[in-house]
Amino acid sequence: MANSANQPVYLDYAATTPVDAAVAAAMSACLESPLGFANASSSHVAGRQSAAAIEHARTQLAALLNAKPHEIVFTSGATESNNLAIFGAARQRARRGRHLVTMTTEHKAVTECFEALEREGFEVTWLDPEVSGLLDPVRLQSALRDDTQLVSIMHVNNETGIVQDIESIAAICRARNILYHSDAAQSAGKLAIDVNKLPVDLLSLTAHKFHGPQGIGALYVADRPGCRLAPLIYGGPQERRMRPGTQAVHQIIGFGLAAELAAARQVADVLHFRKLRERLWQGIRDLPDIRRNGAEVHTFPGILNVSAGGVDGESMMLGVEPLCVASGAACNSQSGESSYVLRAMGCSDASAQSAIRFSFGRSTDNSEIDKAIERYRWAVQHLRSLAPSGVATAIRA
Ligand SMILES: *Cc1c(COP(=O)(O)O)cnc(C)c1O
Repeated sequence: MANSANQPVYLDYAATTPVDAAVAAAMSACLESPLGFANASSSHVAGRQSAAAIEHARTQLAALLNAKPHEIVFTSGATESNNLAIFGAARQRARRGRHLVTMTTEHKAVTECFEALEREGFEVTWLDPEVSGLLDPVRLQSALRDDTQLVSIMHVNNETGIVQDIESIAAICRARNILYHSDAAQSAGKLAIDVNKLPVDLLSLTAHKFHGPQGIGALYVADRPGCRLAPLIYGGPQERRMRPGTQAVHQIIGFGLAAELAAARQVADVLHFRKLRERLWQGIRDLPDIRRNGAEVHTFPGILNVSAGGVDGESMMLGVEPLCVASGAACNSQSGESSYVLRAMGCSDASAQSAIRFSFGRSTDNSEIDKAIERYRWAVQHLRSLAPSGVATAIRA
């Protein structure tokens, strides 16, 4: 192969971020002390200390969103938070109505919940985005009915970085007394979210997208009449009975600290990402038939999604090695199917096939971006010069 250094260049921070050193230290310290194993539901001194540590973390999470601490319910991550919000709201309100609304461009952790609810007899309206990836609020307005109980529309899209106008969406739902849930796994800790200004009822978060540990997340549940959820599991009083079971104290401590650190670093991180994304885009945009998926103005700067016409997806992933990037969403890349998110935005199947998602981290620097530019340019030019068949084989060889 024409290219040299095989050192991986990690540009896949939208999939997961490294645990902050201070977070790891706090978690280890917890595991090595009685805090880490005392059951927070026990009434002895050690149990009370664990409970206090959990409540402190709850305060840190609440501060990130300007919420009240009791509005934070700890879960195992955004997948579980989405499940709890969607099944919990749909089932709790089923007697009032069985109509629900979401978008076709949501994460699988949302779409698969709604598909399961359809099999349970709920009716779901699936809204398509505009070509920009954004939801037209007029489309939402006209989808709402008297029996609509829940709307779920994400904040930042995990594949394209597109930022939905969740303030307008939330206002539309609130005016009709419909619960509004948003999957904020890609935005929480990265963009400012103030639930005092944003009339959202349910918001999903996960620690590992902002330098916290994997396997811990939260659902914000607004303290308002009517915003109640049927639990998914039963067995105890923890997390206001919405998520019973012994809490993982070390995970929760790490999550709380990660939230506090993220809030302090948000502004600087976004400026950094903007510069990196601009450098990368300027370095590749002159390649013929290159398409940027998602307009600059409404996207989170930590993500750049590009398609190259005439290049096959699997060959592309092999061709850009050792860049660690995603083809479409990390979760769908096993299936070999092109991105349903990009196709919903009007991208052709061929164009969606060749899509690559670059995503940046706090420690990403210009030299990594320059390597990415060099490698991406090489891959596109090289793959286009080969015959369409047997491309993947040629790259592997
Ligand atoms: C990562 C992600 C999830 C899943 O989060 P987990 O904590 O891994 O369960 C859900 N939604 C979006 C938008 C994500 O980016």
